Amino acid sequence: MKNAYVATPSIQQGAGLTYIKALGGVLCEALVQLEEIAMIDLAKQKTSLLKRLSELDSRLHAIEAELEAPHSKDWEELAVEREGDEVLEQLGQSGQDEILRIRAALKRLRDGEYGICVRCGDDIAAERLNILPDAPLCNECATAVAG
Ligand SMILES: [Zn+2]
Repeated sequence: MKNAYVATPSIQQGAGLTYIKALGGVLCEALVQLEEIAMIDLAKQKTSLLKRLSELDSRLHAIEAELEAPHSKDWEELAVEREGDEVLEQLGQSGQDEILRIRAALKRLRDGEYGICVRCGDDIAAERLNILPDAPLCNECATAVAG
């Protein structure tokens, strides 16, 4: 530390120390903020995954009940209902896909592999996981797979 002051003789030792202490404080704060941004709250992620899973579960059951409900005999209504059925079936399918993704994410949480891209092994950005808690891929891989 003594040598550092030799290099900056224009700053008096007292003033230099205050300056460096202040700088250190700012750096510490920045580091803490960085850590908070980078850190993924696993408990929080798990809670939102489980919440979404139970939402999907009840939605799927509602869809199943709707699909199994007896149809009206009116031809016109029947046509409309048939279209509705297709939408319901698609909803059911995407819901089932999402449930599978969430289950896989919960398994990765259990295995300590949560937040690691299943394709390239890189860390998945925390912002991405906050938006998509069940994301199995990092940004780059998701783009690569989609394209
Ligand atoms: Zn990746």
